[in-house]
Amino acid sequence: MSALANEFSWSHSRHESFQTCLKRYYFAYYASWGGWEEAAPARIRELYRLKRLSTRNQWAGHHAHLAIEFLLKNARRDPDGALAAAAATRQLDLMRREFRDSRAGAQRADPVHVPGLFEHEYHLEVPAEEWKATVDRVSLALRNFLASELWRDLRALPEDAFLSVERRAHFLLDGLKVFAVPDLVVRQAGKVVIYDWKTGVSDLSEHRPQLGIYALLATDRWTAAPEEIEAVAYNPVLERRESFSYSADDLETLRGFIRDSADEMLFPLENPEANDAGAGENFDCAESEAPCKTCPFLRACPRWNA
Ligand code: SF4
Repeated sequence: MSALANEFSWSHSRHESFQTCLKRYYFAYYASWGGWEEAAPARIRELYRLKRLSTRNQWAGHHAHLAIEFLLKNARRDPDGALAAAAATRQLDLMRREFRDSRAGAQRADPVHVPGLFEHEYHLEVPAEEWKATVDRVSLALRNFLASELWRDLRALPEDAFLSVERRAHFLLDGLKVFAVPDLVVRQAGKVVIYDWKTGVSDLSEHRPQLGIYALLATDRWTAAPEEIEAVAYNPVLERRESFSYSADDLETLRGFIRDSADEMLFPLENPEANDAGAGENFDCAESEAPCKTCPFLRACPRWNA
């Protein structure tokens, strides 16, 4: 049992996990809790290790985020652009190292610090050109970002316009902790502008609810006025952006959405007050097998290991 209490909180990614598959949600938020500790029981440690796996697409997205974070924190004020020019090489070197470690199974010995890839864990045959395309997407995202008007505008902003870069934050909703990690928040043209980087192929308009949660965070942290908030989903791979604004009514609807989602999540718990899921008997496998194709818990799931 971990010394750190597993307190119930809400986030958009937790909501999505719950909606995708209850069993997967149970593994990720309950059964793997404390598995980062070396002394944890083997089953908990194994579930924690599986939880830390990424598919190659998630891995590429993560590295694109890291590279942009590096640019925003270090290269923005670099007058001759040397740091920005070296950013892609730096990131690709890191990806190469992680790829080799993952292929060698190094994550098994240190799941806290060494990332592992889903494709290696489950011995999926991925052609070399597909791995190359995955890495190329990160290079392309960086190249496009550095050539974008957005990067030019961000570099022109004063230091105190930067409110948050990849910082995990939370606000309270009726006492419930709601976590959010906006990629970037700046004050720009009299507004609080929230940016979220997307690197997949999804329609950017789908991200309106997720960015709405960041808008709620913004009303808690930086401005009480919804009309002063703009949220932008930005895809540097496809060079697309979509902006969202939220009225006071929209934000109230989002608060209701969070309350309902949290109630739903608490319902299957054995003891909701203690956030205790027991042995997870109320958490069934998803009806559809579609989410299993990229589920890190395949080797632990009763559906596939009866
Ligand atoms: S393998 Fe499928 S059913 Fe099992 S936890 Fe994962 S998504 Fe759910």
